[in-house]
Amino acid sequence: MKSIVTGGAGFIGSHLVERLLDAGDDVVVLDDFSTGRRANLDAVADRAALRVIEGSILDRRLVDEVVNGADRVFHLAAAVGVRLIVDRPLDGLRTNIHGTENVLDACVRSGARLLLVSTSEIYGKNTADRLHESSDRILGSPLTARWTYAAAKGIDEAFAHAYWNEFGLNVVIARPFNTVGARQTGRYGMVVPNLVGQALRGEPLTVFGDGKQTRCFSSVHDVVPAMTALIESPECVGAAFNLGGKREISILELAQLAIDTTGSSSSIVLVPYEEAYGAGFEDMRRRVPDNSAAAAAVGFDPITPLEAVVAEVADDLRRRSHVAEPVAL
Ligand code: UDP
Repeated sequence: MKSIVTGGAGFIGSHLVERLLDAGDDVVVLDDFSTGRRANLDAVADRAALRVIEGSILDRRLVDEVVNGADRVFHLAAAVGVRLIVDRPLDGLRTNIHGTENVLDACVRSGARLLLVSTSEIYGKNTADRLHESSDRILGSPLTARWTYAAAKGIDEAFAHAYWNEFGLNVVIARPFNTVGARQTGRYGMVVPNLVGQALRGEPLTVFGDGKQTRCFSSVHDVVPAMTALIESPECVGAAFNLGGKREISILELAQLAIDTTGSSSSIVLVPYEEAYGAGFEDMRRRVPDNSAAAAAVGFDPITPLEAVVAEVADDLRRRSHVAEPVAL
């Protein structure tokens, strides 16, 4: 089985690549190393079945070449992270819309199966008690940079669905909710490595807003197997599946958990959103998944406790601060 992983040097992508190699696949990674890191693939760098190609999904000819002859494509390459999207919305729009279109076209031409990795961000400000895949999307103005990510990913999903309908593309969509684990970096906004890094350095933990906003964090070790199961299930074609954690936690509670897990003496400070992300920034108060569709389709059961996820991130940050290519701890 030949699998392509766009964004395979990223946080989730690198865990997926390891799993595919362990299952005996030939794996080709296409990554532009904008946010991905070569070091994320260190554990598998010497595997003969792995090929890493440095290039962008915006390079249509390259995407065609890479996808040609593949059995399946896991499309994870994207501009991600609230910090990055707010700072460079145009890059995000181009990569996330035109890049995905290139991947969809290449899959139609080659006949490869596709897993499109979308995001829970598409639900926007819908605070429903359990967001179902058919729940409404409540987005702010497209002129507010934060919403450009949800807008672009929503278009990606609509494109994928139309390609399935009109060209018979064999595509399934995953919507991960705040996936966390080793190799995730806080540089682009992600809260868990950010808070854990601050706790390890003994700095104040920066909780944005009032800290009462909630999320349902999930382990990359629960999410990645669900992704491979989804692409392998013919009955999932043409549909989208939430992949989120079970436990709803406020960011203030999360900060305390980061302090407790690391044994840090850090304090917690509340930082206004305008200070963190500039004027006009809007956050989601709550984001809680209904995972029942993925549970029924592929047995998705996010069992890893958040304590274990936070401990994994802390171990990873400690380890990486001592290697040749240190992360900013
Ligand atoms: N957040 C925070 N401190 C940080 C980074 C993020 O309080 O250093 C908050 C952020 O405002 C949001 C939550 O944590 O309410 C999750 O943020 P993240 O960017 O990880 O994911 P998303 O907002 O996409 O769920």
